[in-house]
Amino acid sequence: MTDLTTPIANGAAGLTRPKISFEFFPPKTEEMDKTLWTSIERLAPLEPNFVSVTYGAGGSTRERTHATISRILKETSLLPAAHLTCVGSARGEIDEIVDRYHEVGVRHIVALRGDPPGGIGTPYYTHADGYQSSPELIAGIKKRHPDIEVSVSAYPEKHPESLDFKADVDILKAKVDAGATRAITQVFFDNDLYFRYLDRVRARGIDIPIVPGIMPMHNFKQARGFVTRAGTTVPQWLAEKFDGLDDDAETRKLVAATVAAGQVQKLAKRGVDTFHFYTMNRADLVFAISHLLGIRPTKPVKKAAA
Ligand code: FAD
Repeated sequence: MTDLTTPIANGAAGLTRPKISFEFFPPKTEEMDKTLWTSIERLAPLEPNFVSVTYGAGGSTRERTHATISRILKETSLLPAAHLTCVGSARGEIDEIVDRYHEVGVRHIVALRGDPPGGIGTPYYTHADGYQSSPELIAGIKKRHPDIEVSVSAYPEKHPESLDFKADVDILKAKVDAGATRAITQVFFDNDLYFRYLDRVRARGIDIPIVPGIMPMHNFKQARGFVTRAGTTVPQWLAEKFDGLDDDAETRKLVAATVAAGQVQKLAKRGVDTFHFYTMNRADLVFAISHLLGIRPTKPVKKAAA
């Protein structure tokens, strides 16, 4: 899997170290804001490639996503990537958002179609004056601002709306042809699904990095419902690991970190050297997993609260 990325030297141990990126969501309340910024502070010294901030379904977090991205740019040396979906919006609105990002210095967008307006599982329809698909959105972004790097989604188990894997990979190919240079996968728990998908993608002539999206499931019950709706299979063995821990958050945390660390270490053994972590705005598990991957902070970090 050497075509995924080129390993870089780890100053601390002199070994090659994987590249990582972190995904956050825009906070709703002051308390959530504090949690997010404590997490960013703790994870920043791990020098991620970039940190991304999600965009609420149908643009519901438009201003909060923008505010979070702007603050990252102002107060940290991290490279932010703004998620953007085109569903439910007119072309002009989306163009305005992209221009605003460009103006404040954002040079990386995670461009997405978005879920159907009625929610996952309901029929998808587009805005009459909107971008009609993610490839159209990507082309629109690249046309306005060729210096914006565009990442996109990829689905190792295929997107729930895809007829079959061929249709799914065709969409990814269209996204690459429109200008996407990186894909980040939906969460998966069985590494073989990722490698099979990678084979399909490479066979279709797609050569961009397909970065595995890793989610430590510290809140298993809640996350299980969410990822299942998005088309991810939650294996029985994983459910069994969290069995009986509904009221034991501490143990759940340890189990979640152990499971995710096992998954990334197995991926790394098979040559994967780039990982995207769905942090859920928490630093502790992702920090520990990164540590197990050999990643060390570049400067002293605050000790985590006991
Ligand atoms: P696409 O990859 O464009 O398409 C997905 C599927 O839709 C295709 O495989 C195909 O089956 C069907 N389809 C699309 N266009 C066509 C066409 N022209 N003809 C036929 N079939 C078509 N959601 C958010 O709301 N906010 C976020 O911030 C966000 N971030 C995400 C980040 C990642 C890494 C991932 C994996 C997903 C994210 N999502 C986010 C979820 C995403 O919006 C949903 O999965 C959505 O349903 C599909 O958007 P997409 O860009 O992945 O779709």
